[in-house]
Amino acid sequence: MITRHDRVAVDLPKPKGPNPNGASLVQELLGGKFGEMSTLMNYMFQSFNFRGRDEDHARPFYDLIANIAAEEHSHIELVAYTINLLLSGASERGTDPSTSPLSVAEESRNSLHFIASGQTALPVDSMGRPWSGDNVFSSGNLKLDLLHNFFLECGARANKIRVYETTDDPTVRAMAGYLLVRGGVHVVAYARALEVLTGADLSKLFPIPDISNKQFPEAKVLEDQGLHLILYRNNPKDFARVGEVWKGRHPEDGQKLTVEDGGPEGVPTPELPEEPQLTAPGIGAIDEEMLKELAKRLGS
Ligand code: MN
Ligand code: MN
Repeated sequence: MITRHDRVAVDLPKPKGPNPNGASLVQELLGGKFGEMSTLMNYMFQSFNFRGRDEDHARPFYDLIANIAAEEHSHIELVAYTINLLLSGASERGTDPSTSPLSVAEESRNSLHFIASGQTALPVDSMGRPWSGDNVFSSGNLKLDLLHNFFLECGARANKIRVYETTDDPTVRAMAGYLLVRGGVHVVAYARALEVLTGADLSKLFPIPDISNKQFPEAKVLEDQGLHLILYRNNPKDFARVGEVWKGRHPEDGQKLTVEDGGPEGVPTPELPEEPQLTAPGIGAIDEEMLKELAKRLGS
C-alpha cells in the first residue's frame, strides 16, 4: 500500500509560454520505453513477484526494489505536471466554438493532447505510441532483474539528457535536472546491489552516458545539497534492511551514502487552470440559453 501526498517532488517554474510540441517531446520521459512509467512498473512488478524475500540473504534486495518503486510514483507525477504546464493555455480560451479555438492542434505533434484529453499528459511516448506492458521485465531471477534495472536506469538517463538538450524551457530543465539526480541514485543503487550480490564492480562503467550530472546547472544545484547521496526509505518498519545495500561512498565524488526515512518534502502541486474551449473540467460554466431550455423541458 502507498500513502499519497498532494505535492510534487520539486518546484516547477512556470514555462516560458505554452509549448505543445515541447510537451510531446517530454511524453518520452513519461510513457516511453525508458520513461518513468516503465521504471515504476518494472520495480512494482519485481517487488510484487519477489519470491523468497524473507530469506535472510534476499531481504535487503527486496527492500531496495520496493522502495525505489515507491519513489518512481513521484517521478511519473513530476513528468505529468511538466507536460500539463506546457499545455496550459496552448489553445484559445473561451466558450465560443465558432472561433476555432483548437486550431493550434493542426500544427501540434500530438493531436490527442487536444482531442482525447483536456490538454494534459497521456500514457504515451513522444511519438504518441501507448505505453506497453512489454516494457516490464520481471524474470524472477534476482541477478537478471538487477542487471536489467541498471541498464534501464542508464537508458532513462540518456533520454533525460537528450530531452534536456531539446529546449531551454525552465520547467523542462527543472524536471530533467531533478530526475537526473534521482535517477543517478538508482543507477548507483542497482550497481551497488549487484556488487553486494556478486562482487562485480559496475562503478567502473560510470557515468553512462559519459557526461556528469554536474554539467547540468539544475542538477548540480541539487547535488551540491547532497540529493544524490540519499536513498529514501518509504517505510522504516517494513523496509528496515535497505541500508545493507545502500552503503559506502558515492562512486563519483566519494561522499557518504545515507538512507533517509520518508520521502522528499516536496512542494504544492502546480495550478492547472480550466480550459473552457475543451469543456475541461466542464462544470461551472453553464450556458444561460441551455439552462432556460432545460427548465422548459422540466416544465417549470
Ligand atoms: Mn525515475
Ligand atoms: Mn529511477
